[in-house]
Amino acid sequence: MALPKLNTAPIYEMSVPSTGERVSYRPYLVKEEKVLMMAFESGDQKQALKAIVATIEACVQDKLKVQDLATFDVEYLFTQIRSKSAGEKATVLLKCEECETQHEYEVDLSEIKVELNEDDRVVDLTDQITIEMKYPPYKAIMESDLQGDQMELGLDMVVASISGIIVKNGLEEERMDANDVSKKELMEFIESMTSEQFERVTKYIGDLPAMKHEAKFKCLNCGHYNNMELKGISDFLS
Ligand SMILES: [Zn+2]
Repeated sequence: MALPKLNTAPIYEMSVPSTGERVSYRPYLVKEEKVLMMAFESGDQKQALKAIVATIEACVQDKLKVQDLATFDVEYLFTQIRSKSAGEKATVLLKCEECETQHEYEVDLSEIKVELNEDDRVVDLTDQITIEMKYPPYKAIMESDLQGDQMELGLDMVVASISGIIVKNGLEEERMDANDVSKKELMEFIESMTSEQFERVTKYIGDLPAMKHEAKFKCLNCGHYNNMELKGISDFLS
């Protein structure tokens, strides 16, 4: 006789932050948790990124191209799935800014938000040349060399964040789509920037939306009132 089915997992809903699309999802199960744990404990960052994508693909009931989503989307979706699977409260260790005493701080993962800054997605490089930016897709990080040089990684992210290049010629304006330009050409274009122009581009990447939470606590040792910002998945799931 076959064993009976244990349960039908409950279904929840959430929004994809960058698009607002509503998706339904179920919590992850023991078999999926096992794969996740092994990936996290391996210390191999790529394996962890892959396991996160696989978990979202398994738990979200709607069609979603997870690797094409923005990093903050993937981190948010995963955190919400995890909160319904392993508990909505996560305990993180935070150090007092004054005396460095460690405190256990509890975050309610279901309350975490991603705020989109609808800021200019356009960076002017010269009077004639402007670049249009987009959220770099998660796969750009998955495909990059995470152990490698930080500078290379930064350049890869910039390439992945450019959606178009606009050239003004008098009153005429011509737009080139980044998809129609080879990665090599884009890289050469970026490498020909002055460091000041490059900084304007990397600022866009530094200011990308992220999961954020303001953690406020009074230090039990020195009484200092701490007010710090948790940002990105690593700050929440430590
Ligand atoms: Zn303190």
